[in-house]
Amino acid sequence: MKIDHGVSRRSFFKTAGIAATAFSAAQEGLMSKDSEPLDFPLVDFHVHIENWFPIEKAMQVAQKRGVKFGIVDHPGPGNRIRTDDDLRRHIQKYRQHPVYVGLQPIFLGWSKDFSKDLLDQLDYVLMDPQTIPVDGGYMYIWRADTFVEDVESFMKLYMEHNLRILTTEPVDIFGWATSLPFCLGRYYDKIWTRQRRQTLIDAAKAHRRAIEINEVARVPDENFIRMAKRAGLRFTFGSDARSENAGRFVYCIEMARLCGLRKADMFTVAGRLHT
Ligand SMILES: [Zn+2]
Repeated sequence: MKIDHGVSRRSFFKTAGIAATAFSAAQEGLMSKDSEPLDFPLVDFHVHIENWFPIEKAMQVAQKRGVKFGIVDHPGPGNRIRTDDDLRRHIQKYRQHPVYVGLQPIFLGWSKDFSKDLLDQLDYVLMDPQTIPVDGGYMYIWRADTFVEDVESFMKLYMEHNLRILTTEPVDIFGWATSLPFCLGRYYDKIWTRQRRQTLIDAAKAHRRAIEINEVARVPDENFIRMAKRAGLRFTFGSDARSENAGRFVYCIEMARLCGLRKADMFTVAGRLHT
């Protein structure tokens, strides 16, 4: 088994909080000799560029891994893309590189701040449900200290938020699908009842959203992916990395193999359904 040492790995575990043992086990599974090659090109549609991970570095990583990158950044208050000018710069900057250019909104209603002709120039939009409006503020469920007092009332709020994104936001890819706050992670199977899963899948299907298989959170699980595949949904792989972990897929590939994902099941920019 090969494990990288150094900054990239340290930052991976620091930012993701993933246990090294789970990571190693999956790596071994990936390397089993009877695994078949996938029949589609690998794309990481969820890569962030930062000062410490500039586009030039990202291109080296993409080349090394043989994975095409889709670059996203956040629009909206407190983020880098707040105006049409910012969005234009974002598009122009990354168009010079062999990447897809995307956007990852966080807040509901984000698209009204931008001109339609600029939004149309993007290759795709990816949105996740991890920032939930509540009591005039927001609950950021990706934060490790997210407190959930009552699971049922949280899930009611969370399902409503998921459905609002799936049914009303102009997005192509639904990111971090079925992720839960850290404090609920161990109850995933219980919380994600068949009915809740089906509700999300039906909404994604009706509104033509692709489902991100998220490497860092290892969601959604195999059952959800199988159900979504049966419903005819498309999938993407996403690392949500802002480091050399971009394009590093263990869980995504494992799920693709287990669930028999083929080329026709994968989202492509050319075959983008949302307009
Ligand atoms: Zn992201």
